[in-house]
Amino acid sequence: MVQDNTCYDVTIIGGGPAGLYAAFYSGMRDLKTKVIEHEKELGGKINVYKEKTIWDVGGLPPTNGSQLISQLIDQSSTFRPTIALGEQVVDIQRMNNGLFHITTNKNRNHYSKTIILATGYGILRQAKLNIEGAEVFETSNLHYTVTNLEQFRQKHVVISGGGNSAVDWANELEPMAKSVTVVHRRDQFGGHETFVARMRQSSVDILTPYAIDDVKASPDGCCIEQVTLKHCENEQCHFQETDAVIVNHGYQPDLSFLDHHPLGLQVEERRLRTSPQMETSASGIFAAGDISNHSSSIPLIAGAFTEAGLAVNAAKLYIHPNAARYARVSSHNDRFKTTTV
Ligand SMILES: Cc1cc2nc3c(=O)[nH]c(=O)nc-3n(C[C@H](O)[C@H](O)[C@H](O)COP(=O)(O)OP(=O)(O)OC[C@H]3O[C@@H](n4cnc5c(N)ncnc54)[C@H](O)[C@@H]3O)c2cc1C
Repeated sequence: MVQDNTCYDVTIIGGGPAGLYAAFYSGMRDLKTKVIEHEKELGGKINVYKEKTIWDVGGLPPTNGSQLISQLIDQSSTFRPTIALGEQVVDIQRMNNGLFHITTNKNRNHYSKTIILATGYGILRQAKLNIEGAEVFETSNLHYTVTNLEQFRQKHVVISGGGNSAVDWANELEPMAKSVTVVHRRDQFGGHETFVARMRQSSVDILTPYAIDDVKASPDGCCIEQVTLKHCENEQCHFQETDAVIVNHGYQPDLSFLDHHPLGLQVEERRLRTSPQMETSASGIFAAGDISNHSSSIPLIAGAFTEAGLAVNAAKLYIHPNAARYARVSSHNDRFKTTTV
C-alpha cells in the first residue's frame, strides 16, 4: 500500500464488530473514514468462532460467525471507507496542529482529526496447551479453534476449557461427534447459563476438576491418540483415547501500544475508561466495543454496535460542534436510495 497522507475525519483502529459498524455509521454521518486492522482479514474475534452459531444479535436469526462477518463487511462498505489491513498501530501522537499522527508496524503514517479505538482486548494470541512438544500436533488433531465442524463428525473429541467457547463447541459438536468430553479445572463453567445447562443435560461427558496433563502420540507420531487427564486436587490420572483435542484456554491479548499510555489514555485492567458518550481521557479519541469500560459496558456484539454509534456521534460533535447529536433516521440518507434490499 502506498503512503496515504490524506487527513481523515475518523480513523478507526480495529476491524471487528465495533470497528466495522463504526465505519458504516461514520459514513452515515458523512465523515471521511479509515479503518486500520492488524489482521489480513476483517471481523475481529468472530474469526475465531466462524462456525459457531450466534444467537444474541438483535433482529438476526441464529447466524454463524462467517455469515455475520460477511454481512458486517457488506454493511461497513456502504460509504466506501478506506481500509488498511495487515497493519498494527504502534503509536499515536497529537501534532502541533491538533491532528493525530498514527504509526503502524509497517512504518506507515496515518493522519486523522479523531480516532475511534475499537481494538477489543488487543491482538489475539491464543493461550496454548502448556505441554512441551504439543505444538507439533497443531497441524493434525490439536485445535485452538474450530474452522470446520464436519471434521469432528463421528469422532471422539476432548474439549479443554470452561468458558463460553468450550461450552459452545461442546453443544455444537454433541449431536455429530461420537463422544464429547469436556475437561475443566473448576466445577463451575463461565459460559451463558442457558448453554451451560444445555451442555449439562446432554450426553456431553463433563470431567471436573480435571486438566490435560499429557498427550500421547499415535505410533506414527503424527497425531494425539490419548490424553492424560489429572484430577486437580487428588492428582489421580485418567487416560482417555481421543481422535481430536480442542483447547479453549482463553487469550493472551497484545494491547502493548497502550502500555505507555499515549496521550494520557487511562487504561484500567487493559480496558479504556470512557464516558457514557464513549469519550476517553484524551480529547478527540473515542472507544467502542470490548476495549471500552464504563458503567453500562456489555462486552458482546450488540454492545459493540451501540457503542460504535455513540463513538461516531461524539467524533462528529468533536469535529463539528454544531452538528446534530445523532444521525437522522437511516432511510433519509441519499446513499440508501441507490441501495436495493
Ligand atoms: C469464542 C467467543 C465466542 C463469542 N460468542 C459471542 C456471541 O455468541 N455473541 C456475542 O454477542 N458475542 C460473542 N463473543 C464476544 C464478541 O466476539 C465480542 O464482544 C466482539 O467481538 C467485540 O468486538 P470488538 O470490535 O470490540 O473487538 P474484536 O472483535 O476483538 O476486534 C478488535 C480488532 O482490533 C484489532 N486490533 C487490536 N489491536 C490493534 C492494533 N494495535 N492495530 C490494529 N488493529 C488492532 C484486532 O486484530 C481485532 O480484529 C464471543 C467471543 C468469543 C471469544
